[in-house]
Formats: sequence, structure tokens, C-alpha cells
Amino acid sequence: MKYIDLHLHSNFSDGTLSPSEVVFRAADLGLSAIALTDHDTVSGVPEALSAALSMEPEDRITVIPGAEITAGYLGRDIHILGLFLDYRHPALNQALDETVRLRDLRNEKMAENLRRAGIPVTVEALREMEPRTVITRAHFARFMTMHGYVRSNQEAFDKYLGSDTPYYVKREYLEPANVIHLIHEAGGLAVLAHPLLYRYSLENTEILIARMKKLGLDGLEVIYSSNTGFDEGYLRRFANRYDLVMTGGSDFHGSNKPQLEIGIGKGNLKVPETLLEPLKEHLRR
Ligand code: AMP
Ligand code: MN
Ligand code: MN
Ligand code: MN
Repeated sequence: MKYIDLHLHSNFSDGTLSPSEVVFRAADLGLSAIALTDHDTVSGVPEALSAALSMEPEDRITVIPGAEITAGYLGRDIHILGLFLDYRHPALNQALDETVRLRDLRNEKMAENLRRAGIPVTVEALREMEPRTVITRAHFARFMTMHGYVRSNQEAFDKYLGSDTPYYVKREYLEPANVIHLIHEAGGLAVLAHPLLYRYSLENTEILIARMKKLGLDGLEVIYSSNTGFDEGYLRRFANRYDLVMTGGSDFHGSNKPQLEIGIGKGNLKVPETLLEPLKEHLRR
């Protein structure tokens, strides 16, 4: 049996490995395919594809171009994975550039709030840490840990970065309908990422899934690092009930989330390669 991982971050968003490092590590770990799914960007995809092409054909890993796009839903943000994207698609790139611009405006405001709280953070300093990246709150957390303002990323989120702290600034998000439409325009599959992470009851999670399905959602991320107990079972049932294809991934972020490894998540994640065929089948529909 071969395994894959369809949810990975590089340092083009809040991961710490470069796209090529992600690809080589996944290949070393024996995976047969991965999707690079950075937050709101496809800019790391060309590097990941070249890295795969640089490998000997017999041990080459398949790289699926993707992105994890943020959308607004009832006052919070949900994440929609685009898989098998035409990463050069102009409308997709234009929309993603605009979300990055809105994110940068939010980042400036949050940095200002944090400076007032005595933490001398600037967006320029964050950009110097990772010049090519989409800057997320995870970068703020790393800055604060590195410079000793907090002991851990978790403490940074609890005290300074979480949506219930006084420093948090909401950013503007795309509508889910737009995100799904953009992904389709770029030839991809739209998959609701980690449906159980939005802190909804099971009933409201089902309502979310049903609404997204009406908007054209293709799939559900059923296998996921933080699943416990019956989580995967519930998600499988939703996927069947709403005729959604199933995907799975670790949500690897390098040393920003050191407990998660590519392919195996916290240690026992397994995403079988056999999930790929139904995805490709769905793409042909
Ligand atoms: P942003 O999209 O800039 O608002 O930042 C969101 C990113 O911050 C997420 O994708 C996570 O990687 C990270 N994040 C959000 N909340 C937490 C949390 N409570 N603990 C650790 N990381 C978090
Ligand atoms: Mn992240
Ligand atoms: Mn996410
Ligand atoms: Mn993610």
C-alpha cells in the first residue's frame, strides 16, 4: 500500500521548509504523491514541480498544485483547499493577490496594536524572516517566540494573536461561493479543509457542509492529523451523504507545528493512494 498527503505548507506561507525541501522530505518518507497547499497562494508550486522533475523517474513523487484559500462564513474563517489547480490561471492569481493585499493591511494594523503593547514587531521584520511568503499570524508568533516575548507559539496565540485578544484585527475574506468558483475556473477541485476545526457542533458542521455542497463543493478532508475517536467516521458519513469525494492530509507546517510530520501527522495518519482515483474521476465529470 502506498500513501499520499494532500495538505502541506511551505515557507511560501506559514510552513518553515521551502517547497523543494517539502517535496524531497515527502519522497524520503516514501510517499507517492503530495499536494502543496499554502495559505492563499500558489507561488510555491513551480518550485515544488521542478523539485519533483529533478528526481530520477523511478523515485519521482507526484506533486499536485494546490492552495488553501480562506473564506468568510458567518463571521469566522473557513479554509477551502483547491487541488489540481492550473496554478498559472490569471483570475485565480489575481484574486489571490488581492487577498494577500488585504491580509497585509490587516498585518500592518495588528503590528501597530502589538507595538502599543510593547512588542516591537514590524511587517518589514517579518518579511525579512521569509522574503517570499504570505505573512500570517503564525509569523508573528515565531517572531515573538524568537525574541523572547513569549515562551511558545501557543502562548503568542493565547495572549496576543487569537481572535479573542484585544490585538486581533479581522481581515476581509472572499465569499465561499467565490472561492469555489475560482477553484473551478482554474480547473481544480474544491475541498472543505478540516471540517471539525471550526468549533461547530456536529449539527452545524453538517449545515456548513450542506451549504458548501450547494455552492459546488467537490470534496471533504476526511483524514486529518487532529482526528480522534469517531471523527473520521462522522466525516466519512457526511462525505457519503452529500456525495463528496474524500481527501486527507497532515497540515504539515515544518517547525511551526513540530508535532506534525509529512504523511503521518502525529504518527498514525495514513492517507492511502487509492483516494486519488476518485478525485481524478471527479475532475473528469
Ligand atoms: P492568518 O490567516 O494570518 O489569520 O493566520 C492564521 C494561521 O495562524 C493559521 O493558518 C494557523 O497556521 C495559525 N493559527 C491560527 N490560530 C492558531 C492557534 N490558536 N494556535 C496556533 N496557530 C494558530
Ligand atoms: Mn497555517
Ligand atoms: Mn487550515
Ligand atoms: Mn493548512
